[in-house]
Amino acid sequence: MLYKRSSELFAEASKVIPGGVNSPVRAFKAVGGTPIFVKEAKGAYLYDEDGNRLIDYIASWGPMILGHAYDPVTNAVIEKAKKGTSFGMPTEIETKIAELAVSMVPNIDKIRFVNSGTEACMSAVRLARGYTGKEKIIKFSGCYHGHSDAFLIQAGSGAVTFGSPNSPGVTQGTAKDTLLAPYNNLDAVKTLFEANKGEVAAIILEPVAGNMGCVLPKEGFLEGLRALCDANGTLLIFDEVMTGFRLAKGGAQEVFGVAADIVTFGKVIGGGLPVGAFAAREEIMKFLAPEGPVYQAGTLSGNPLAMAAGLAMLTELNNNPEVFTSLEKKTAYLHKGLDSVLKDSGIEYTISRFGSMLSVFFAKEPVVDFETSAAANNDTFKKYFHGMLKEGVYLPPSSFESYFLNDALTYEDLDFTIAALKKVVPTLK
Ligand SMILES: *Cc1c(COP(=O)(O)O)cnc(C)c1O
Repeated sequence: MLYKRSSELFAEASKVIPGGVNSPVRAFKAVGGTPIFVKEAKGAYLYDEDGNRLIDYIASWGPMILGHAYDPVTNAVIEKAKKGTSFGMPTEIETKIAELAVSMVPNIDKIRFVNSGTEACMSAVRLARGYTGKEKIIKFSGCYHGHSDAFLIQAGSGAVTFGSPNSPGVTQGTAKDTLLAPYNNLDAVKTLFEANKGEVAAIILEPVAGNMGCVLPKEGFLEGLRALCDANGTLLIFDEVMTGFRLAKGGAQEVFGVAADIVTFGKVIGGGLPVGAFAAREEIMKFLAPEGPVYQAGTLSGNPLAMAAGLAMLTELNNNPEVFTSLEKKTAYLHKGLDSVLKDSGIEYTISRFGSMLSVFFAKEPVVDFETSAAANNDTFKKYFHGMLKEGVYLPPSSFESYFLNDALTYEDLDFTIAALKKVVPTLK
């Protein structure tokens, strides 16, 4: 495959956009080479600027769960655009999508729409702090909740129980209010509670992690967090920006049967337009301005185009819940196929999957947290990524990202992908 035009476009972009991209993972830093510029996409396929067709396994990092340029969503946006694209005043469609979301997701009475997952998580934490009157939060290493200051924190060293900034520009003052624990480690969370008695406003986590590759919660982990939150007057925030409307209508809460106090959304809920949202039961949501004292706002929040795309997407999923089973079956099929190719290859690997999320790690040990994910062999991953790309399969360009399957993928596409891995395997050693 030739990437001449993409390389030229990347060079031009790099002159006027930092690193040539508007979000870092797109730049291929983790795998080397230059990123591919998309011209258009339809269904399960991306068409790049050089005329290559790629089978897409990232689905815009999740939103395109029914495939690209899905007609009901596209048409809803086109029709809405003709009637004005932003008013800064209430519109009926905001209520429609809110009613639908509240009916699909357990344990929520009200929902506030924002423009990104970052905003949703940032606002959820402010709301939790406002509601509980406490300041600290617990997050897990390797979970991503957007790029707001409170989340760009890494584990502190030695005896220090609070975090330190992992990006310049984040202050020590902010870092000291974010406590870090390893994913799947309830004991570490218990220790944090003991050391910070009465101070923890919320635990926030990805109920199935997708930002250290796909990592599953161990049996009892989510239930254990729920119990610790209840015992300590702390709110449990499920960041369902990836899992919401992907694992099931009601997301991870429904699948695991564990209730969160606040849930955040993004990605699928916007149908490919910039949308995020956070939701909770009435007694918590009433703390939010203008009803309550916790401030949160947005000029373009509830934007008509974004709401039209989101409403069309949620309506499709609500009316066709068999999509979730279909996706799960396809992902399990892919899992089995990739596994059967790698099994006899002599290459160390482990595959994680939950629903329509999947990751291949070139790791010896099972991947259960950030440490075990980071221990995977990145040189093998790079070869794997570029090998598959050459065959026409677009995988996440970082081992810390999950695949997101879309329902436009056919079994022929999956077989093609498995066959591609067969060709690539000899180059991995
Ligand atoms: C993508 C993501 C976010 C951030 O959403 P943006 O829309 O990129 O700001 C937050 N949490 C999780 C779990 C995500 O996957």
